[in-house]
Amino acid sequence: MKIKLTILLLTLVLGLSANSAEIIYPKYDNVTINSPVTFFVGNENPNKELFINSEKVNIHSSGGFFQPVDLNIGENIFNISNGTDTKTYKITRKVIQNHPVVNTTQISYEQPNTYITKENNVPLRATPYDGGINRLQHLEKDIPLSIIGEFGSFYKVQLARDDYAWISKSHVIKTKENITPAEIASYTYDETPEKRIYTLKLNKKAPYILSETRSFLQKDNFTKLEPIVNGLDLVVYNVNGFPEDKFEFHINRTGKAFGYKTYYKNESELVIEVKNFPQINNPKPLEGLKITIDPGHGGNEFGAIGCLGDKEKDVNLSISQKLKEKLENAGAKVATTRIDDTAISLTKRVEISQNNKADVFISIHNNALPDFAAKSNRSGSSVYYFYPQSKELANRILDALTGELCMNNDKVRQESFAVIRNTESPAVLIELGYMINPEDNAKLIDCDFQEKAADAILHGLENYFNEVQ
Ligand SMILES: [Zn+2]
Repeated sequence: MKIKLTILLLTLVLGLSANSAEIIYPKYDNVTINSPVTFFVGNENPNKELFINSEKVNIHSSGGFFQPVDLNIGENIFNISNGTDTKTYKITRKVIQNHPVVNTTQISYEQPNTYITKENNVPLRATPYDGGINRLQHLEKDIPLSIIGEFGSFYKVQLARDDYAWISKSHVIKTKENITPAEIASYTYDETPEKRIYTLKLNKKAPYILSETRSFLQKDNFTKLEPIVNGLDLVVYNVNGFPEDKFEFHINRTGKAFGYKTYYKNESELVIEVKNFPQINNPKPLEGLKITIDPGHGGNEFGAIGCLGDKEKDVNLSISQKLKEKLENAGAKVATTRIDDTAISLTKRVEISQNNKADVFISIHNNALPDFAAKSNRSGSSVYYFYPQSKELANRILDALTGELCMNNDKVRQESFAVIRNTESPAVLIELGYMINPEDNAKLIDCDFQEKAADAILHGLENYFNEVQ
């Protein structure tokens, strides 16, 4: 009787299901993927057996699957078969011509030339490449720079006798004026309940770099050195009356530094604002804190697509809404960068957080893998930060995600994402899980799990604020 019932049920399930597996990725048949490996992501009735060519595919109980495959140069044919139906996908891997070696050599000029920055927010970099974590400073418009050479699409900037940096050729224009050192007219200090304000009055704009000072704290029985941010270092270049024309200034953390910004006002007054650490009320450490939640993607920007066809943008928004409610119950004042399914630029997201005068910025995302990482076995939660001041917050949130949700530890990483390059508050970007990993995906689209994930992020924040005060 029992056997008969099982057979009947199986027949029903099989009979009701679609005939062949749904393939989510690659998005289309007949695509070109120039990688030695890629993957198939999709879903199939978990009671069926699925094969890609002769390889058996593991189907998660949710129906989701992720199957890495090798690609040979040329056309690769994949037969995706569930016993009753077969789909055929063709993926072409092109022979990548070795790029002709661009003969980029560093050129040094006989005489330095003066250029000025063309616009605001121009990145000054440690290396002549657009990428990675090589940003030293974002400069305002009209800052004069001494250019002594070039490499590819970058100019080499001489800041002081032994200090160099790189700037994109597209961000500066040449001027005829020679650079003469700036003079410091005065220096003032102000404070309000919210911030400390340092103002350096110069007679003209000069380049500068503001960086976080790090020292190393010994942890865990002398085995591990953990970097801590204990202040800010400002160097203004090309200032008269200082060794090497370098004016150096250190701002102590005083245990209270928390977010900062620097800018020129009234043409040539360089201002550094350092936000005080918010008042923490035990046992409600988030009471009164201003928090910005940033649900990633939106509108026609879907983000990653999950095994069952769910879109990352919807999962991000749903978790963000739950997080908002929990943070508000904990007494925080929450702003969100989007409340519905609309596309919002990265700049706008940062602007919303700045207008909110946020104490913390949290971006919510879910992950996918590039083709070449098909066999990397990466899954679980990762938290990204850019400025060292945000690393501790990233650690506490990841601890909560791996501890409370049992997510695989996919690490805390430093990455130059635009939304977390805002210095006005600690800022992190959470990749809660992988939309394309069947195990992660089944959790991410589950309403109960989303609640627990929001709880874990809340606890990570609470632990952080309880610890750092
Ligand atoms: Zn995303």
